Amino acid sequence: MSLVISANVDLQGYNTLAVPARALFFATLATQDDVHEALAFARQQALPVMILGGGSNLVLRSDFPGLVLHLGLLGKTLVHEDEGFVWLRVAAGESWAKLVDYTLASHYWGLENLALIPGSVGAAPIQNIGAYGVELKDVFSELTAIHMVTGEEVIFSAETCDFGYRDSVFKQAQRDKYLITTVTLRLRKQPQLLCHYPALRDALKAHSPSAITPQLVYQTVCAIRRRKLPDPAKIPNVGSFFKNPVISCAQHEALRQAWPDIVSYHLDDQSVKLAAGWLIDRAGWRGFREGAVGVHQDQALVLTNEGRGRGDEVLSLANRISTSVEELFGVVLELEPRVYP
Ligand code: FAD
Ligand code: NAP
Repeated sequence: MSLVISANVDLQGYNTLAVPARALFFATLATQDDVHEALAFARQQALPVMILGGGSNLVLRSDFPGLVLHLGLLGKTLVHEDEGFVWLRVAAGESWAKLVDYTLASHYWGLENLALIPGSVGAAPIQNIGAYGVELKDVFSELTAIHMVTGEEVIFSAETCDFGYRDSVFKQAQRDKYLITTVTLRLRKQPQLLCHYPALRDALKAHSPSAITPQLVYQTVCAIRRRKLPDPAKIPNVGSFFKNPVISCAQHEALRQAWPDIVSYHLDDQSVKLAAGWLIDRAGWRGFREGAVGVHQDQALVLTNEGRGRGDEVLSLANRISTSVEELFGVVLELEPRVYP
């Protein structure tokens, strides 16, 4: 019995929005045994459980009346390799951004475009993290997870994860059912550069195609992100607060008549993705500030909490924004971060 379960723990340092909230109970899980012991404790006490990685994609509306399980499982194992690929199994508590650095240093390619995304490896499959034209699913092999009630270990393939746009089975049918312990990635031994994403392509224009390496893609992605996105350590935020809405082509056509410069991307013959940041900007919210909370000046999709206000203050602003976007464009915005409790 090595697990330490603490009571009444301050979570402000554990969420990148820096919301002040407390956990009734809190434990950091460093081993598989810790996982089983903590889940047994929650079952015995009939406590709700919240799994916490880096806290960069959640909003604490108020204190959490249960057990918060902070993922501290660490380790990386090269489990298999063939001529073209390596399979790297990574424990859920590892930092995603540090993993990207490690793979580049090891000459395992595929994560360059996903540089500098905050949070843990175990959370990456939850919303199939994506950026600059690459998603986790493009490098994903499988994951292991523990069922929170039975304690059974289960392997999920890419198919059973049912990855979608910022979505997976863990946000849908299997929500709150599993604790992910490891994620195995299939990475290339030879680089395959993906530079079609507009902001990345434009930034790389200054270089001749032969000079573009995975390291340059990585550095360029880091430079764009540092320029555009607020550092949560200085300006608390959870990245994009809303998902980009997907609408029908007919609705898009009607919107385009009214707003010829609307930013949109055709996904297929039937659906179009709108840039939520553009909608929020046009609704007049970019740079807005009231009390502790606000809307980032350079990217209206990012809500900020510079005054370290409560979660319900941030959510109230989000609500006002989505109402005004719906009134103006008839488009419903969906929250990207998970709200607790
Ligand atoms: P947390 O916030 O701790 O948890 C998020 C959800 O996942 C919670 O519901 C939690 O219970 C669940 N969860 C976490 N770990 C596990 C586990 N091991 N098992 C089961 N459930 C788990 N996201 C992108 O997709 N692309 C981006 O480019 C991007 N950029 C960002 C930039 C900034 C500045 C910030 C602040 C956020 C950004 N995000 C981005 C959002 C966020 O970083 C990612 O979603 C990240 O994967 C969240 O990881 P986390 O460990 O912080 O998750
Ligand atoms: P951006 O380049 O200003 O683009 C705005 C939006 O347009 C993005 O959300 C992006 O969708 C979409 N887009 C741009 N070019 C596209 C294309 N060719 N095809 C389809 N969609 C396109 O975005 P940004 O805010 O600076 O972010 C850059 C990247 O980092 C994006 O991929 C974004 O998702 C990611 N990011 C995510 C978060 C988060 O918290 N989830 C936070 C910061 C950055 P996509 O989002 O689908 O790419």
